[in-house]
Amino acid sequence: CGIVGYIGTQAASGILLEGLRKLEYRGYDSAGIATILNNTIHCIRAKGKLHNLQEKLEGEQNPAQIGIGHTRWATHGKPEEYNAHPHTDTQRRIAVVQNGIIENYRELREELKALGHEFRSETDTETIPHLIAEEMKQVEEASTPHAGSHSPFFEAVRRAVNTLRGAFAIAVINADYPDELIVARQQAPLVIGFGQGEFYCASDTPALVPYTRAVLTLENGEIARLTPLGVEVYTFEGQRLKKSPRTLNWNP
Ligand code: GLU
Repeated sequence: CGIVGYIGTQAASGILLEGLRKLEYRGYDSAGIATILNNTIHCIRAKGKLHNLQEKLEGEQNPAQIGIGHTRWATHGKPEEYNAHPHTDTQRRIAVVQNGIIENYRELREELKALGHEFRSETDTETIPHLIAEEMKQVEEASTPHAGSHSPFFEAVRRAVNTLRGAFAIAVINADYPDELIVARQQAPLVIGFGQGEFYCASDTPALVPYTRAVLTLENGEIARLTPLGVEVYTFEGQRLKKSPRTLNWNP
């Protein structure tokens, strides 16, 4: 239902929580955030209101400068903590938040299970981190040049989104690539916010407005790589696009 993401120079978790608060008006049944701390994915989720998530985050010193967050409105799987986003792959190296519905999740789930991936939720979303992990193996083994960006992580996500069917927006982080936040859009909204050496993403502009007015709206079939140095936008086919942010007129 609500997606936020941050990469930059500040502690991410407070920014993510604040962003989720701006998206509360959309309604949700659970929430969670994932950051990269000491080269591992640090994922905290809670059923119910953001207040419950906030309580779990209180007292923890989390200096992580990259992270993703989500408020979930369940479509596949009960509104329980184990179904709340972010979802991770078997090795817990990749974390994903998703808005929308993955229509071919049943087939993907069976295929991925047969390849040894262990599922921990009932959601359609959980197929995504496992699929990306599977693509990571292929990309890291292959010596062939990648389409578009030269990041293996980006390439794995790009390949994964080409396999997904349905209407979705996703944000993805990878503990092995702590300087990259990958986002993609297919029939569900996603906007990118530009700061100075820091970048944001969200499913809706109110989450960005406290931090920046420079925004870029992703179109269907576009995937972007956010690093502390900038934003690169590509098509799902891997073709680089020239896009720049516009200035939001916002009268609160
Ligand atoms: N279909 C996903 C789920 O049930 C995402 C729902 C949403 O957009 O919040 O987990």
